[in-house]
Amino acid sequence: MWGNAMRIARIRGFDIKVDASWFLIAALIVWSLATTYFPTELPDTGTATLFASAVLAMLGLFASLILHELAHAEVAARFGLRISGITLFLFGGVAEMQSEPAGGTSEFWVAIAGPIASVCLALAFWFSAQIADVISAPDPARLILHYLAWINLILAIFNLLPAFPMDGGRVLRAWLWTRSGNLLEATRRATTVSAAFAYVFMGIGLFAAFTGTLAAGLWPVLIGLYLLVTSRAALAQLETKTALDGQTVAELMTKHPWTANPGQSLSDLVNRVFLAHGISFVPVVERGTLLGYVDLQIVRKIDQDNWTTTTVEDVIESVNAGNTIPPQMSGLDLMSLIMKTGRRKYIVADENQLMGVITLSDVLGYLSVFREVTTPLPKTMVN
Ligand SMILES: [Zn+2]
Repeated sequence: MWGNAMRIARIRGFDIKVDASWFLIAALIVWSLATTYFPTELPDTGTATLFASAVLAMLGLFASLILHELAHAEVAARFGLRISGITLFLFGGVAEMQSEPAGGTSEFWVAIAGPIASVCLALAFWFSAQIADVISAPDPARLILHYLAWINLILAIFNLLPAFPMDGGRVLRAWLWTRSGNLLEATRRATTVSAAFAYVFMGIGLFAAFTGTLAAGLWPVLIGLYLLVTSRAALAQLETKTALDGQTVAELMTKHPWTANPGQSLSDLVNRVFLAHGISFVPVVERGTLLGYVDLQIVRKIDQDNWTTTTVEDVIESVNAGNTIPPQMSGLDLMSLIMKTGRRKYIVADENQLMGVITLSDVLGYLSVFREVTTPLPKTMVN
């Protein structure tokens, strides 16, 4: 997800990375603090001081966000979860977990750790601000401390909105999960609540945009879209994981597929196999031995006038490690292979023995049935 994130440090074994989009936000924060917020609070201050103060405030926020994410990561590590790193991006920070929490309790503590850290930071900055006020520290220093106290409090409250996958949404999911014992069901409900928040955000944004403040409206719309996309992606990922857990390619594949033989002409292949059975990908087998495959893409490269004189053998794609997988491969490994290579069709073979074929649509078909089977009907429809 963070292809262009830059690693800036390593703290307590966690990689701290910054996505390019964070720099945009950092620049916006500095600009708005230095040109609007700070000048109204410090009217007789020079531009250079205002900008320097704004940069310091932005760096304070930057450190606060990292500490918020470190709190998530530290607690996650305590629960034995693997964290690949912390990334700051357009909407703040994210601690990238490589594994899902094992239960509602660990999910709750991992999720709540961030807002707790932000509240602690808010208190720490607030106390420092009080001390700075008492000792009459320079005005910019006091203003920065007050700003950081407020921004951390706002961050804690905002993150606690029950919009999955934000912290509050994870707390909600943890509670639903503990209550029902069903992670998938809990995630579905949390995603529904999150979608409601997303639409409220987008509604507010659009209202602001249509009543004249286009720029102010953009932000809530982006946050709404972000919530919709990320919560649905998290749900889809969990559905896939749950559905494919324990499934092997042998169970998901099409067994006894139609095959072609090497001597067959392409016109024969198209008419008697592709069109006759509505398929576009077939293994080529000769006397029980798997040789390779042909598909519609390969055949279409040949001029149609030559289909009667060209044989399957002339165009066959031979069996190799890139197009053939073993039947015992797990469904999840197959999905990651498809994601990694972009290849959607595989021959399933044991040694040179054809076992079946599997395509992305086989897996998606299975997932869609699984989704329907595991989604309870609304109560009014059950009788
Ligand atoms: Zn958080």
